[in-house]
Amino acid sequence: MPQQEIKNFSITELENFLKEKNIASFRAKQIFKWVYLKQTDSFEDMTDLSKDFRKEAQTLFVNKRLEIKKISHSQKDGSKKFLFCLEDNNHIESVLIPEKDHFTLCISTQAGCRQNCKFCMTAKGGLKRNLSTSEIVSQIRDIQKYILDQNEDESKRLSNIVFMGMGEPLDNYDNVLRAIKIITDQDFGLKISRRRVTVSTSGLIPQIERLGKDAAIALAVSLNAVSDELRSELMPVNKRYPLKELLLALKNYPLPKREKITFEYILIKNINDSLEDAKKLALLLKGVKAKINLIPFNPHPGSDFKRPEKNTIEKFGKFLLDRGYTVIVRWSKGDDIGAACGQLSAEENSGEK
Ligand code: SAH
Repeated sequence: MPQQEIKNFSITELENFLKEKNIASFRAKQIFKWVYLKQTDSFEDMTDLSKDFRKEAQTLFVNKRLEIKKISHSQKDGSKKFLFCLEDNNHIESVLIPEKDHFTLCISTQAGCRQNCKFCMTAKGGLKRNLSTSEIVSQIRDIQKYILDQNEDESKRLSNIVFMGMGEPLDNYDNVLRAIKIITDQDFGLKISRRRVTVSTSGLIPQIERLGKDAAIALAVSLNAVSDELRSELMPVNKRYPLKELLLALKNYPLPKREKITFEYILIKNINDSLEDAKKLALLLKGVKAKINLIPFNPHPGSDFKRPEKNTIEKFGKFLLDRGYTVIVRWSKGDDIGAACGQLSAEENSGEK
């Protein structure tokens, strides 16, 4: 049997795998601690495993890191874009964003994406493939290591994860769910609070319903339009899962107390940025525990869409604020290094570089 990547296992799966091999299942917890909490790469260095088992583990498993191909530093806001080269030469990107007292990491779940949203750069090349669980959690593990090695602002911890990079997380459900379990495991995993992990989706209703049952994490939905006609044009997924049904599913999403669903709304000049749109948005979200993130469109090559004037953005936001909504205008970080929302493309994939 070929060696298996250790980070593709949930802890329960690893326990079961070891049991089948007549190995005590508590070894799974020991291994998880070394891999995720101590950043250990070699099974040889996992010193509380018996010598024999250390040898055996090396025949059963590998524990690899992603290849960091390039790190781009934003001069404007200190965010960093990591370009990773995967073993089959697909490329993905993650963005590390410094906040006041912590780091937020935006991670990818697919190489490419098949949702074909008209404003998004990742959509351009279609879906290459789903990322494995290991490739998803490695973005976090490897960048945590990078932060440690750089000795970068030791007071700051990587405490927030957003699944808002390349790909549609809920289109890679099983690997994303397994990754969430590892990320939020407080005893043996990456120990990130589940309230600080946000999955952002274009609106796949059946998977939203599943997620509500499988993991109590924060949810963000990319809304971007208030009529089915426009939303279907901008986001073809809307033809399958139209607004009315989407909103109903979101109303039923089991939210922890005091938490809200984030609605992302890209503001595109003359497309969805009028006060009429704001009015319809306020009505649409009535009765939903919602906070609204307005994202001024980030231009990229090959798109005719434009960002509205600042004044228009402010008016749109104020209208919603005045109606009692929590509104944040998300001026994307890292736009000078192509790391802003919707700009991730792994140019390497298309050979455009
Ligand atoms: N597929 C998931 C996550 C990736 S997209 C989703 O759809 O939510 C992350 C966010 O970036 C989404 O809210 C999307 O609407 C937004 N986005 C995509 N392209 C953008 C662009 N050019 N400018 C601003 N935001 C964009």
